[in-house]
Amino acid sequence: MQVQEAETKQGYKGYNNYGAWLRQKYNGQRVFKVIVDGGFTCPNRDGSKGYGGCTYCNVDSFTPSVSRNNPSVREQVIQGVERARKGNKADKFIIYFQPNTNTYAPTHYLKMLYDEALSYHTEDIVGLSIGTRPDCIDAEKIALLESYTDHFDVDLEMGMESIYNDTLAQINRGCSHDDLIKALKLVEHSKLDICVHTIFGFPWETKEMMLRYAAEINRFPQIKFVKFHHLHIVEGSVMGVKYKREPFKVFSLDEYANFLCEFLPLVRPDLVIQRLFGLSDLELLIAPNWGLKKSEIQYYIDQKILKRGVVQGSAL
Ligand code: SF4
Repeated sequence: MQVQEAETKQGYKGYNNYGAWLRQKYNGQRVFKVIVDGGFTCPNRDGSKGYGGCTYCNVDSFTPSVSRNNPSVREQVIQGVERARKGNKADKFIIYFQPNTNTYAPTHYLKMLYDEALSYHTEDIVGLSIGTRPDCIDAEKIALLESYTDHFDVDLEMGMESIYNDTLAQINRGCSHDDLIKALKLVEHSKLDICVHTIFGFPWETKEMMLRYAAEINRFPQIKFVKFHHLHIVEGSVMGVKYKREPFKVFSLDEYANFLCEFLPLVRPDLVIQRLFGLSDLELLIAPNWGLKKSEIQYYIDQKILKRGVVQGSAL
């Protein structure tokens, strides 16, 4: 089972990074995310919202290869925890339902699945993290997730991707920015920790357009975590087919790091940044392939931020 490292060794990096936040919150213990595939599909694939999915998406590109073999939730949790304990000396775990749309089922079914995932190694599970689309949550599902907050930290992660409806239409997202705003209103006073993720680098969006994402995120105090990704083109996606036929400009690592250096000063300083970039399996990645491992990319970006003296929120 793949385990996502949720802790870094570095201290302050010029931005409010998730590794440091976790260390502080859990008194220095090593906390790892264990990715679980609940066997969900996606309304943007099965026809209820659309077919073919978002044009950049190949679900396999963000599904750990072991989870793709469809072991049960129980096996995924047990094996994921053991792997993280042995391989990463992890102390505590966050169960992360990541692939596809993890609230796309009736609430009673969701309860059964989440209950199952949280029923093993319970003493060492500290959190539940649910990835979904903004148009796939409602008051009942929020109440279900809130019911776990007595014992676990629960975060609900929703794809913002772009703040522009034109972009969302072009990428066949099947929902609008207004859907995200509605979802954010629904969770406004909930006990859930809200995370949104964005993608930078759609070829038709200018730098100025992307920099405006920050103000849009900042205006929702209920957002606690953010994940920033650069656009990467993967095999099995509609965009991958288009890119191979007619390649378009994607970020180089240096360009992306420089972009982040301009972006971070605009980001509310209390927002916790879970990720600054995404990386799919190399065998699925078409572009950009920066030829570096995840840790090397992280180091490059962190060094750039430090060298340029960037401080999150300093331009606000
Ligand atoms: S990115 Fe998410 S919402 Fe879009 S097709 Fe893939 S799983 Fe569905």
